[in-house]
Amino acid sequence: MAQATVLDRVRSWIDSAERIVAFTGAGISTDSGIPDFRGPQGVWTRDPRAEKLSDIRYYVSDPEIRKLSWQSRLDHPAWKAQPNLGHRALAALERRGKLHALITQNIDGLHLRAGNSPERVFEVHGNVHRAMCLSCGWRGAMQDVLARVRAGEDDPPCGECGGILKSDTISFGQALIPEVIDGAMRSAQEADLLLAVGSTLQVYPVAGAVPLAKDAGARIVIMNAQPTAFDDIADAVLTMSIGEALPFICGAG
Ligand SMILES: [Zn+2]
Repeated sequence: MAQATVLDRVRSWIDSAERIVAFTGAGISTDSGIPDFRGPQGVWTRDPRAEKLSDIRYYVSDPEIRKLSWQSRLDHPAWKAQPNLGHRALAALERRGKLHALITQNIDGLHLRAGNSPERVFEVHGNVHRAMCLSCGWRGAMQDVLARVRAGEDDPPCGECGGILKSDTISFGQALIPEVIDGAMRSAQEADLLLAVGSTLQVYPVAGAVPLAKDAGARIVIMNAQPTAFDDIADAVLTMSIGEALPFICGAG
């Protein structure tokens, strides 16, 4: 079937759906200038040292890795990134009263910036705009900690307990937050339509939200430039530009 015909059909499904769960990955943020770390051209794929900076074991044991991490955080692309048409389309879906939940693998915070409500957004890998202490669990604004780095502290300790600070994101080797994963999975089971955007759906456990929603009776719509792990159980697979197709199917443009 022609993609234009599928697009019209998916738009009508979304018009009639009442509890849509969106699932987003790196592909929705590339138009905002956030590189896809895991893709074929990804930073980690091209530079194995970059991956070392994101591994909690090296981060905790090696002060030099922490200093390098703070230097690289100073110019993280997320600080200047703005939500794009894809993020805005999902915010429009919430304003239409159709969005039950938004599960994202992204740490850039752009869904919240676009206007989605924090209580509906499950950031399963955290949010780089927050800092956290690995010892006492303190959380606060990342920009406040970065101001200390700019002022000369190359590995700023926690102001509460002196512990190691890092971004409030899930590094390699670090446990996911059970309440966030549970909330995401529960929402997926309550969906009448699951819309997966910009992810190859290979990162577990959260990719399991897709078959969970399917088993609970939801329609599955997948929008991604490359094939995904769940194309075979999808009711529709869309491969066109997210920035063009997502606003159309969400009734946002
Ligand atoms: Zn602390």
